Amino acid sequence: MPDNHVDTAVIGGGIVGLAHALAAAKRGDRVVLFERDDYSVGASIRNFGLIWPVGQRPGNVYARALKSREIWLDVAAESHMWCRDVGSLHLAHHPDEEAVLEEFLSTTPAAVEQGCRMVTPTEAAKRSAAVRTDGLRSALWSPTELNVDPRQAIPSVAYHLIAKYDADIRFGTTVRNISLPRVETTDGVWHAERVFVCSGNDFETLYPDTFAAASIVRCKLQMMRTARQPDAWQLGATLCGGLTLLHYDAFKHCTSLSTLNDRMLEELPFCRENGIHVLLSQTADGALTIGDSHHYAKTHHPFEDERVNAAIMQYLRTFAEAPDFEIAERWTGIYPSVPGATELVVQPEPGVTVVNGLGGAGMTLSFGLAEENLST
Ligand SMILES: Cc1cc2nc3c(=O)[nH]c(=O)nc-3n(C[C@H](O)[C@H](O)[C@H](O)COP(=O)(O)OP(=O)(O)OC[C@H]3O[C@@H](n4cnc5c(N)ncnc54)[C@H](O)[C@@H]3O)c2cc1C
Repeated sequence: MPDNHVDTAVIGGGIVGLAHALAAAKRGDRVVLFERDDYSVGASIRNFGLIWPVGQRPGNVYARALKSREIWLDVAAESHMWCRDVGSLHLAHHPDEEAVLEEFLSTTPAAVEQGCRMVTPTEAAKRSAAVRTDGLRSALWSPTELNVDPRQAIPSVAYHLIAKYDADIRFGTTVRNISLPRVETTDGVWHAERVFVCSGNDFETLYPDTFAAASIVRCKLQMMRTARQPDAWQLGATLCGGLTLLHYDAFKHCTSLSTLNDRMLEELPFCRENGIHVLLSQTADGALTIGDSHHYAKTHHPFEDERVNAAIMQYLRTFAEAPDFEIAERWTGIYPSVPGATELVVQPEPGVTVVNGLGGAGMTLSFGLAEENLST
């Protein structure tokens, strides 16, 4: 086969593209991946690094998240990337939060099978050094969540593809046009049997009509990170509070959610208006990642609202404490989202699959989704 002929070409070096490249390479395909930037700087390096099955819609999406989790653990073991199998705690400081968590457990047997259960404040505090136990009633412990460091994990997956599967990863190369078998790039023409377009927030360069027809939007999020915590302090289980119950699909079916929602609207209207819910994760070097807010539009202004950051920090302090919450970095991230759907998978022409719109769960779902897309 000539050097520029491959079985599978992937466009986009974020987690969605990397996951499809990995699934194809595992099948024995000759793979090339094109990333327009010199290294990936999109949503995939701007996130919490949380592999978060517990928040996913019960049924096949939860199963997909668990499959992804297995693949993350395999890749981490083989590539020696930092990956903590720490689980998560949803902390209940109010009776309405506890009610939602208990209803979730009684209506979601698959989560119980994975080991999800209510724990006492004492057990919660043993699982994470950051838990605020004053006023804590109980917590949902889930053992399935992983914590990776996205700024390290995304390059690690790329190097793993090169080292183990001899994949050709071409940074600084934009794909301008696809007309199979031709894939036209800024570095010449390639020939591919099939293509996965995993272009993240770029809806305009390739297949703009496909994106327009899908009503895809961009969600903008504000994020923060502390400096490294002193004395090698470890977070342990990743944490969240009651606002998170209003965010994830896993809890949407709980009838008790409306009471919680009513209280949050009354007590924390600014948080609700700005889509704030708060997660706490850690990085390989011991910093804490804190966020986030959610604003949906086709085009976003580039500015951060400091009131949003203040509200995130204020809410964080209601359920968590750490040696040093002083913020060292702030940034925004944008992910594509399709209203009412967990992903966008479409074939605009034979042999070409657009994979996008994984919303706030791309780290959690991409590996599993890619296996599904490659099996058809
Ligand atoms: C702040 C934030 C926090 C999040 N937290 C989590 C979390 O903790 N857990 C979780 O599961 N998910 C999380 N998410 C969601 C997750 O990060 C996204 O779903 C995921 O990163 C999307 O991956 P992607 O590959 O589609 O996009 P991206 O990472 O943006 O990658 C797309 C890539 O395609 C490249 N590209 C585009 N067009 C071309 C072209 N024509 N030629 C070549 N290259 C091209 C771009 O340069 C870009 O690098 C979070 C998202 C954000 C923004």
